[in-house]
Amino acid sequence: MRAVVVREHGGFDALRFEERDVPEPGPLEVRVSVRAVGLNHLDTWVRRGVPGHTFPLPLVGGSDGAGVVDALGPGVTTVSLGDEVILVPGTSCGLCEACTSGNDPLCRQYHILGESRDGTCAESVVLPAANALPKPPAMSFEDAASIALVFQTSWQMLVDKVRVQPGETVLVQAGGSGVGIAAIQIANLFGARVIATAGTPEKCAKLAALGAHETIDYRAQDFVQEVKKLTGRRGVDVVFEHVGGETFQRSIRCLAWGGRLVTCGATTGGKVDINLHELFFKNIALFGSTGGSKGVMPAILRCFEDGRLRPVVDRVLPFDDVAEGHRILEEREAFGKVVLRVS
Ligand SMILES: [Zn+2]
Repeated sequence: MRAVVVREHGGFDALRFEERDVPEPGPLEVRVSVRAVGLNHLDTWVRRGVPGHTFPLPLVGGSDGAGVVDALGPGVTTVSLGDEVILVPGTSCGLCEACTSGNDPLCRQYHILGESRDGTCAESVVLPAANALPKPPAMSFEDAASIALVFQTSWQMLVDKVRVQPGETVLVQAGGSGVGIAAIQIANLFGARVIATAGTPEKCAKLAALGAHETIDYRAQDFVQEVKKLTGRRGVDVVFEHVGGETFQRSIRCLAWGGRLVTCGATTGGKVDINLHELFFKNIALFGSTGGSKGVMPAILRCFEDGRLRPVVDRVLPFDDVAEGHRILEEREAFGKVVLRVS
């Protein structure tokens, strides 16, 4: 079977197709014949490398995918041969206190597919049966491969960390990104008013169509001033951050007194100055968040089934065009997810 392997960090040519033996599932594992792979910015970081971080190379990339179960290891009872499944990115021991209390991202053995263990960017993948959930029947493999990582991540941030409430106002930074598109929809689902930022008027229009009540073109406007205007100088209750360096300090300035900021990324840099006076005088709370619990996925999938959440796929490329997929993500050409059709 073919897999996309990163042996050394580098440019697009660091993505190499290699022929590998079809893997056999062990106890409580399943093998899935992959039909579609969803790309994430994480894949580009794994390929390029992150200063100060060690990835376990060689590594098969890809955190998201969907396919058909074609082999069962001993003891698997939750799925059957031929089932169509969505692959859930986070694996963990399943036994420790973190896992049994629904906090599996805090498990000492937590791994994200394609980041710290071999991922989905292959014709065949073996993973714990707990990470293969039934695909909603009406959903295509391409749509199914586009949702798990970003919706799980954004759900944990907004629902589990900052506990967004009906009537609150949420500022979603870079709303056109994968997590941003998920965040706009989830904040809406929980009854919040959404202000989203994007870098072009066209993207702002798309965010409004997706459910953002107000949009800010951050290239043309100062988003702090705009947020003040839109909230009667009060500020927002919640900021959804993942941009980092370029926006973080000004994101804090958008918060109302008692506001909460939650972040899952630092695309433009991870070192920022924080004014502690501002933090304590305004009673501000900061939350860090990574990944999400497997336990939230069934609820998310039910919302997709009844149409309250929807996948946003920018384009579907052939498996062989994985490098082109990375380029599209890096150059921010996509609105929504880039998906590879594997078979
Ligand atoms: Zn555990």
